[in-house]
Amino acid sequence: MWKILTQIARTGQRTEPAPHDALPAASEQIQHELLAILGQALAIRHVDAGSCNGCELEIHALNNPYYNLEGLGIKFVASPRHADMLLVTGPVSRNMAQALRRTYDATPAPKLVVAVGDCGACGGIFGESYASCGGVSTVIPVDVTVPGCPPPPLEILRGILTAVRRCRGSAQGEEAPAAHLIPAKVGTHG
Ligand code: SF4
Repeated sequence: MWKILTQIARTGQRTEPAPHDALPAASEQIQHELLAILGQALAIRHVDAGSCNGCELEIHALNNPYYNLEGLGIKFVASPRHADMLLVTGPVSRNMAQALRRTYDATPAPKLVVAVGDCGACGGIFGESYASCGGVSTVIPVDVTVPGCPPPPLEILRGILTAVRRCRGSAQGEEAPAAHLIPAKVGTHG
């Protein structure tokens, strides 16, 4: 016992200090904007249309205590009928194209779509092929794309906020604020 206590005293605390970056300020700003815009929680339905799951890991990280997505009033829901936004990852595999279209159709207006990752933006490394339709906008209209392979959680959060701002801007007849995110092409249905 004495040996363990002296070892603890000798070793000290080895955990890393909490990171000091811009997240708390960005997080607070996003929370205020979302509450001002929506006045309620933002419900997101995530759709994996054919990703490698790399983007999913970053989306999962949004739920950890550091990014604290639920603390911002943003939550993931199981049904598109309960969703304000679709968060779509991956190139759209041809097997998922119809399911994605039906998910989009089931989402109540105004439905926002954020395509996550290079694959969601343009098909990424998978491109278009016999198995892949390419980017999400080839199947459903997209409001914002978040580039990166995979994009970090904060960029995904910014993409979500950009889509919400655009929704507010169009509701008020304003031009949506410019973002460093890739402007989305509105895709064709089909
Ligand atoms: S963008 Fe990269 S991490 Fe995301 S699904 Fe495509 S290959 Fe995977």
